[in-house]
Amino acid sequence: MIAIRKDQTSNIPAIAPGSLLGIEHMAAAEIMSLLKAAARMNPRRSRPPLRGKRVLLLFYEPSTRTRSSFEIAAKSLGAITTLVQSSGSSIEKGESLLDTVYTLRAVGADILVIRHPNAGAPLLAARHLDIPVINAGDGMHEHPSQALLDAYTILRHKKTLNGLHITIVGDIYHSRVARSAIHLFSKFGAKITLCGPADFLPELAASLAPGLHLSRTVEDAVRGADAVMVLRVQKERLAGKKISLQEYILKYQVTAERLKLAKKDALLMHPGPIVRGLELTSEVADCAQSVIVEEVQNGVPVRMAILARALGKGKDGR
Ligand code: ASP
Repeated sequence: MIAIRKDQTSNIPAIAPGSLLGIEHMAAAEIMSLLKAAARMNPRRSRPPLRGKRVLLLFYEPSTRTRSSFEIAAKSLGAITTLVQSSGSSIEKGESLLDTVYTLRAVGADILVIRHPNAGAPLLAARHLDIPVINAGDGMHEHPSQALLDAYTILRHKKTLNGLHITIVGDIYHSRVARSAIHLFSKFGAKITLCGPADFLPELAASLAPGLHLSRTVEDAVRGADAVMVLRVQKERLAGKKISLQEYILKYQVTAERLKLAKKDALLMHPGPIVRGLELTSEVADCAQSVIVEEVQNGVPVRMAILARALGKGKDGR
């Protein structure tokens, strides 16, 4: 029996436990237990814990890493997956978000993974469904699985996030990755420096978390950092705003010379997709300090842990 609420005007229903909508309201202990569960994930289990379950991947925006790793994570746990993208589905015919998610529940979804250009879309879906909803990126709001895999990646190289100097350079304003990362890193006592031009880093960004440091100079921001996270210029979210890429490259591109200002063992991170020659040089993308490929690899066990948690399959996916 599917208990779906269709009445959008009545009392707000509870969100199914196991949903992952953002990092902001997650307790540090819960984050840590997810990261520990990810470290124990084993894709070669003989009795996969999600066998027979259905994971629906609903993507209204392009995706390579997030979509493929959620799919591989779900399949590694024994689940069946179906991908619905806005192009080629009834979304193109004008179907609303809620009607689409009711449809996916009706065909038997046990977990819904959703990416949407509007902030809050996963929350809206979660409020109207009786199954866990996982946010795979909602507009400029949050990208919680990315923050978790970034923390996981850092913790494979550094003992703790506490006191670590993490610099985020680039289009912070339009970045859901930055928002989730800032919430997560600040919960664990990292010292965060944000760097970018005013269009990409308004002063109000300082209010996102306590103790954030804003810098307009990439050299200052990178100096002494333990990790440098570079972000893409989100051209699709500029809404017609004109920015000079030439000037951006000149002032903010992460080059080998600028990266040398960070600690010798600093990690160079990027959530992808990278645009070589824009936010970073090819040399930096492929340098020995770069963990860009590792971030992608770590996305699989982290998303396995997220999906296992969604269905209450214990801390190690059992
Ligand atoms: N892949 C990340 C996201 O979906 C970052 C990016 O697109 O630049 O937000």
